Amino acid sequence: MRAGNLLPMSLVSNRGISFEFFPPSTDIGESNLWQAISELEQLGPDFVSVTYGAGGSTRDRTLRVTQRIKEETGLIPVAHLTCVGSSNEQLTEIIQTLLAAGVKSLMALRGDPPAGIDAQWQAHPDGMTYAVQLVELAAKCGMQHIGVAAFPDKHPQSPSFDFDIEVLQLKQQAGASFAITQLFFDAQSYLDLISRAAQAGVTIPIRPGIMPLTDSKQIAKFSQLSGTPMPESVKAYFNSATDSADIAQLGVDFATKLGAELLDAGAPGVHLYTMNKSTAAKQVFLNLKS
Ligand SMILES: Cc1cc2nc3c(=O)[nH]c(=O)nc-3n(C[C@H](O)[C@H](O)[C@H](O)COP(=O)(O)OP(=O)(O)OC[C@H]3O[C@@H](n4cnc5c(N)ncnc54)[C@H](O)[C@@H]3O)c2cc1C
Repeated sequence: MRAGNLLPMSLVSNRGISFEFFPPSTDIGESNLWQAISELEQLGPDFVSVTYGAGGSTRDRTLRVTQRIKEETGLIPVAHLTCVGSSNEQLTEIIQTLLAAGVKSLMALRGDPPAGIDAQWQAHPDGMTYAVQLVELAAKCGMQHIGVAAFPDKHPQSPSFDFDIEVLQLKQQAGASFAITQLFFDAQSYLDLISRAAQAGVTIPIRPGIMPLTDSKQIAKFSQLSGTPMPESVKAYFNSATDSADIAQLGVDFATKLGAELLDAGAPGVHLYTMNKSTAAKQVFLNLKS
């Protein structure tokens, strides 16, 4: 363990940057991940988070990757955890395993139905229905930093934007100390979210999540990832690319412009979705810092 792992009072510094990774399922994916982590570590992010998928094998991979980040790097790992397919007892066990390994920061999420974002949500018979319950459990177990999801374009299943804000407030009351947003394209959606959240008494930092879209497959998948249709103007922007290098550059430029606009408007830093690749994330990071 390195000294750099000491937890700061707040995980989210004012103009800081954080990175998100996913636990890979192959040896090649694993080696790409550690390559990306070691390159991005040098940039001194506030923290790095590791997502959680559906099923038992991903649970083990998220635990393994966060534990290794904790043991072998100076980075602060944040483990994502969802309510999908786990009983309260199993969720408690996972949180306790993370804490025992020194991982003291958790993103507490409900997760999407395994059949897809549009399917009907079904809780485990002995499990949880909403993320706010997981926030309560994480706080009770002693997690020091608890992050939650926020939605600039409204959660796809939520009845209204105002309802989303009420949910965010409930998460804050339950012990959440920061929020990270879903992907979005329009700075105004984020600014509306933070202004309405502040009016409703939400005081935790809400860090915008940005993904530098660097290949055409990611661009096609965007709506599926975020639950929000990609605006026509943004599609046209990416369609203007002549080759794959051009798409990558457009993606970095777009993410830089959006990030700079948000930081100038007072966003508490930026969270970069890396897709386990360092090049674009590093470029956006350096552009935003310069
Ligand atoms: C930053 C970020 C990271 C993510 N990481 C992951 C990940 O690692 N793995 C993964 O599987 N998914 C991840 N997701 C996706 C997330 O799990 C889905 O978007 C999911 O549909 C909602 O999760 P939530 O935590 O906001 O759930 P919730 O807050 O429980 O909200 C889910 C739905 O229930 C409604 N709701 C919430 N509370 C109540 C209440 N008390 N009464 C009535 N209705 C309520 C909300 O309006 C919403 O429609 C992430 C999302 C974000 C933004």
